[in-house]
Amino acid sequence: MKVYFVGAGPGDPELLTIKAKKILEAADVIIYAGSLVNPDVLRYTREDAVVYDSAGMTLEEIVGVMLEAARGGKMVARLHTGDPSLYGALQEQLDLLEKEGIACEVVPGVSSMSAAAALLKREYTLPGISQTVIVTRLAGRTPVPEKERLSELAKHGSSMVIFLSVHMVGDVVGELREGYDPDTPVAVVYKASWPDEEVLRGTLKDIAEKVEASGVRRTALILVGDFLKCNYERSKLYDGDFGHSFRAKV
Ligand code: SAH
Repeated sequence: MKVYFVGAGPGDPELLTIKAKKILEAADVIIYAGSLVNPDVLRYTREDAVVYDSAGMTLEEIVGVMLEAARGGKMVARLHTGDPSLYGALQEQLDLLEKEGIACEVVPGVSSMSAAAALLKREYTLPGISQTVIVTRLAGRTPVPEKERLSELAKHGSSMVIFLSVHMVGDVVGELREGYDPDTPVAVVYKASWPDEEVLRGTLKDIAEKVEASGVRRTALILVGDFLKCNYERSKLYDGDFGHSFRAKV
């Protein structure tokens, strides 16, 4: 039996993939990160499924549960918030299981960074503004390599998505101001796609105060860059002066 590492999406159960829903419906054992995954997605689990909240478990305990279940011929779903490839501590679980000869599969999910952009109705990659998205975080208990310091990354002036750092928004802004113009727009998106989602908007000058005043300390993304403004060039993809392999020039 396989262990499935499943992206649970940003919160809204309707943002589960069809594959994720099918796995949830079939799994014997489910392990989810109670601090982040919307418990509402568990509505798809079988009534007799055994459900664990990984919040209070160590890596060894989590892997232990998965190993025992998989060896007992049970189907295991390990739910990760958003997409499992981002800040999910996925690799260490996967590698330990594969070392034990357990077959694993990863099912991608809708990341909170996609849900945040959707909520704002903005595109990270606007022509003439930025064609690059930097996805990063400030160091917490997990260190960030020195060459990836936020102040260094800020020098690119690209679109940026900052995870896991809203509780240190003052430090984030301090580093970003070493690279971006102080008038650069910033949006803080709390719990994108949850019923109590919230957006705070500002610039590098005032967003820190707004966040402090709001009480938002977790489950939020900090989005930075001129893609949040309205001025940009139209894309070449749908430009009549520009033909491509699927459409001749008009
Ligand atoms: N793999 C996840 C990220 C896990 S790290 C993903 O793809 O989204 C956890 C961090 O993700 C949180 O601290 C927060 O910064 C962000 N996050 C997760 N869900 C969120 C949501 N619904 N809205 C805003 N930020 C969210």
